[in-house]
Amino acid sequence: MGTATLKKGKEKILQSKHPWIFSGAIDKIDDVKQNGETVIIKSFDGAELALGAVSVHSQIAVRVWSFNSDEKIDKIFFENRIKTAIALREKIIDQNSTNVYRLINSENDLLPGLIVDVYNKYLVCQFLSAGAVFWKKEIVGILSELLKPKCIFERSDSESLVKEKLEKNVGVLLGEEPPKLIEVKENNLKFFVNIKSGHKTGFYIDQRDNRKLLREFVKDKSVLNCFCYTGGFSLYAKSAEASHLTNIDSSSEALTLIAKNFELNNYSIDNVENIEGDVFKLLRKFRDENRKFDVIILDPPKFAESVSQVTKAARGYKDINLLAMKLLNRGGFLFTFSCSGHISQELFRKIVDDAAIDSGRIVKIIRQLTQSSDHPVLSSFPEGLYLKGFICEIY
Ligand code: SAH
Repeated sequence: MGTATLKKGKEKILQSKHPWIFSGAIDKIDDVKQNGETVIIKSFDGAELALGAVSVHSQIAVRVWSFNSDEKIDKIFFENRIKTAIALREKIIDQNSTNVYRLINSENDLLPGLIVDVYNKYLVCQFLSAGAVFWKKEIVGILSELLKPKCIFERSDSESLVKEKLEKNVGVLLGEEPPKLIEVKENNLKFFVNIKSGHKTGFYIDQRDNRKLLREFVKDKSVLNCFCYTGGFSLYAKSAEASHLTNIDSSSEALTLIAKNFELNNYSIDNVENIEGDVFKLLRKFRDENRKFDVIILDPPKFAESVSQVTKAARGYKDINLLAMKLLNRGGFLFTFSCSGHISQELFRKIVDDAAIDSGRIVKIIRQLTQSSDHPVLSSFPEGLYLKGFICEIY
């Protein structure tokens, strides 16, 4: 087995159980033949500390598989990790009402670089690190044995692969070719999902718990869903008897799917307005028209893809939050989110606070929100928490 020897003092990274070792912490890597293979991680003086996967082309040179250097990294190792992840979902997901959820959440399920999402009888996987790619065949075999899916579909098309210098791959890994749209249910609401080319692995699964919460706030209310995608929040609002719904997205494909999702649930589209356009512009238009809403959802895409984009992203978040606060009726509610990993919880809170001051409204934060529980955050891996949100009451 190859070896990664750390620089003096860098063994602290492993003591803190953070699963990433950056190339700057490594003195030398020996006897590695293939990208992604397992290496033993040693301290500068030769003590064996942990086992990890080497990423030859990445700044994250090693991702830890196990903090126990006596463990064997083999098919059984992956089977055990995957079984542990499945057991957690069996506890937290009511499979009678929900058949779309995240089964394996990468580092946070101690499987760096591996994402597996369940879409009814289909599994969608992302292999995002050299180590995950190295063990792909075994992982697919285990998932197939344990879950017997109709199909295991690969969606390794995330931009993070470019940094890792790994190939993008999209296609069937096992089983039958999936149809263009798959039907799933989330809290008994039905959705069509395009797992082949929809965003992420097809659906924003991470918002499930927050969408459910929305139901408590919308009965007989007018709701504006900004960045609505295929209507996740909109269907929940409709199910909880919102009186009027306005959906905005820049993607016509997403809006077409909203209409299909309403039909799928036998919901009428009376009092539902779908607008294709730019949220930044439309919020200004609504302000100029003096339009008001009772509930507004702001769930934009990631504005900060890197640290260098944080300042610009913060301006964007503040802009839409400020505008939304102005558009809300007294006693209205704002559901506001940021999924940018580079925007911390504290910074997002500050952005919302600043928007509140500039809006001239009184804003009460009544709840802090985060990603759904099937997207756990490993305590030693703060990067795992990326979705932040607030419910604010506006006066
Ligand atoms: N809330 C959604 C997920 C939102 S994803 C859910 O629960 O499923 C972000 C969405 O914002 C995408 O659908 C994307 O098409 C859209 N989008 C990105 N920039 C936009 C803009 N400037 N104006 C309107 N929509 C935008």
